[in-house]
Amino acid sequence: MKTRIALIAHDKKKDDMIALAGEFRDFLANCKLTATGTTGGRLIDELGLVVDRKHSGPFGGDLQIGSLLVEGEIDVVIFLRDPMTPQPHEPDINALVRACDVHNVPCATNVTSAQLVLSQLQARAAGTA
Ligand code: PGA
Repeated sequence: MKTRIALIAHDKKKDDMIALAGEFRDFLANCKLTATGTTGGRLIDELGLVVDRKHSGPFGGDLQIGSLLVEGEIDVVIFLRDPMTPQPHEPDINALVRACDVHNVPCATNVTSAQLVLSQLQARAAGTA
């Protein structure tokens, strides 16, 4: 079964997400990707990935992804949060991260941790880990 990865980036982290996803593009192309609206749009337009786009984060996209996760349909969350900018949907963000902890789903919230998680998944998929 394909690894099911959720990708979310706050506005000031979207360029980092595109760079990260570009670094792992071949691996991600073989995963089942879900993303919040704007993040997903950029992944599709700039990297040609196939992405199931949910609503934008402030309009409930994080909650949609959280719901999928609670249903057991997300294996990994890459959530590049902006710790320096207040977000109108802070409760939704906290709910998603909490759901990851409740259900023991890996949640990488910065580029370095995301690189570690994706490297490991990529190596496993290649049979080298
Ligand atoms: P976006 O949502 O990808 O639609 O910008 C992300 C967020 O702000 O939570």
